[in-house]
Amino acid sequence: MKKIYFTPGPSQLYPTVKKHILKALEEDIPSISHRSKMFHEMVGDLYKNLRLLFNIPENYSIFFTASATEAMERIIENCVGESSFHFVNGTFAKRFYQIAKELKKDAAAENAELGEPFDFENIKIPEKSELICITQNETSSGISIPIDEIYKIADKYPEKLVAVDIVSSVPYVNLDLNKVDCAFFSIQKGFGLPAGLGILIVSPRALAKAEELDNKNYNIGSYHKFPTMSKEAVKNQTIETPNVLAIYLLNAVLQNMLHYGIEKIRNETKDKAKLIYDFFTKNQSFGQPFVKDHLWRSNTVIVIKTPKGSKTILAKLAEHGFIVGAGYGEMKEKQIRIANFPSHSQKDITNLLNFFEKLN
Ligand SMILES: *Cc1c(COP(=O)(O)O)cnc(C)c1O
Repeated sequence: MKKIYFTPGPSQLYPTVKKHILKALEEDIPSISHRSKMFHEMVGDLYKNLRLLFNIPENYSIFFTASATEAMERIIENCVGESSFHFVNGTFAKRFYQIAKELKKDAAAENAELGEPFDFENIKIPEKSELICITQNETSSGISIPIDEIYKIADKYPEKLVAVDIVSSVPYVNLDLNKVDCAFFSIQKGFGLPAGLGILIVSPRALAKAEELDNKNYNIGSYHKFPTMSKEAVKNQTIETPNVLAIYLLNAVLQNMLHYGIEKIRNETKDKAKLIYDFFTKNQSFGQPFVKDHLWRSNTVIVIKTPKGSKTILAKLAEHGFIVGAGYGEMKEKQIRIANFPSHSQKDITNLLNFFEKLN
């Protein structure tokens, strides 16, 4: 039976990925040297396409990491001497915070109840915080911070750096990178690719901060510190042997998406999300949207509260090839999570919802 993965990552592969993998093998991509001209050209092309898709300012750097979790660690090391501040609205935001703690930083957090908005107006960020960390789309709870709220915080604290986790909202999220200093994602979510590569976008201000910390004798890490990564990135090179296959595949999928049109992808994502939210608002016997505030509902990771438990529903769905995510962590058996990425067509979503209807 053909399976379709609605899991929030890894997820359903983007429809062209299998073809790209075959082509990569034919072209011996996994064997080429990362010191070769072919590789440097590939990186240059990927940078160009990333800049196009995300409107990345020319003076911002693009770094490769092994994962989004690695990006969190690199950001803390390179942007924080003493203190960071974290908006914690779920497990991934908490991980960012814990990484700061583990690196012995003085990390402060504003915590929101799971699935509830932050009261941004009334939050005071301490004077000493050098970096504000925000998880824009919290994959564990299905809450998504409206982009304007992020801009407001950035404007309110112009002297602080701002880092934004956009792992599970790319490529849908339309974040103006001019307003933030670091943004990062890994490719096994919205890009529908195999895991094993992270992309970290860094402003000149964040790079300068890393240099300043380095000069002041802070430990900003070893081979993957911003100043060294930046020196390599301007030459389309990397320090270590990177995941060349993943770089190739990301570039190929980016080209597909650019060709298809990012605006079209964004509009379709909204329409598909609406289908899912409307369905579970009307058919509450299955469960209901966990995030109550419509403005804060994620359009890419839809979390449904299942009062009768998630286990039986997920098993029945899986019997018919629909692989849907369980709740995250302690919500494992109380919620289900449905990914709505560009890999999921409107027809896939309709088929899934029709199947839910039959379950009744
Ligand atoms: C999946 C996820 C991460 C972690 O990504 P890795 O590639 O596994 O390191 C971080 N933040 C968010 C919001 C995520 O959804």
